[in-house]
Amino acid sequence: MGCGVQIMSLKLTVDMIPSTSVHINIRNHLTPHQWNKLSKHIAEKSNQTCEICKRVKGEGFTRLHCHEVWDFDFDTATQTLIKLQPLCFECHCVKHMGFSYGEFLIDESQIIDHFLKVNNVDLDGYLQHFKKAAEVYKQRSEVNWEFDFTNVLEMYKEVILTQHEKKIILYKQVYELLKNNRSLTNKDIIAEIGSTYGLNRVIKDVRKDRELERIRKIYE
Ligand SMILES: [Zn+2]
Repeated sequence: MGCGVQIMSLKLTVDMIPSTSVHINIRNHLTPHQWNKLSKHIAEKSNQTCEICKRVKGEGFTRLHCHEVWDFDFDTATQTLIKLQPLCFECHCVKHMGFSYGEFLIDESQIIDHFLKVNNVDLDGYLQHFKKAAEVYKQRSEVNWEFDFTNVLEMYKEVILTQHEKKIILYKQVYELLKNNRSLTNKDIIAEIGSTYGLNRVIKDVRKDRELERIRKIYE
């Protein structure tokens, strides 16, 4: 058993959501359909493997949870979503320790056991870590956070958006470019936006009719 002193090197840590932002999450930011697509994508990308304890679906859990990893900037009071992490039920419960067993009806000792096993520490190691995590939680709960989901929404826009929404965005991008500089060639536009399926057709449409609203109506 490890001595539990090297808290920073723990594989699985407690990282509680501040009391001031409990109900803020990306799920509420998306439609149920978009959320389903995104969480399914996260699980499939990891080959149904928990990113922390490396267990695979079927080895003690039936589905992967999609955990939100946040960065907390005290200077700007901004809570930024930096990644989505596929986690098994127990690892996810450890992350939200103190809340999870109530919400998921799980025994606290089961979660602590999982923490000890994954981190190879003893109970004292857990208690030391939890004390620190609780201090962090307390500090973070004194702030009314502004939320920033933009990085993750951008990261997964291909997954979240429908074909139709992607097309609308493409039209907007091309429209904005041509609005600012009408002498741009197709090559310039492709270089700016990147090679995207259907882009040539979109450029042609926008060149024919630079009124975005009219173009949008055709597609909506
Ligand atoms: Zn796990």
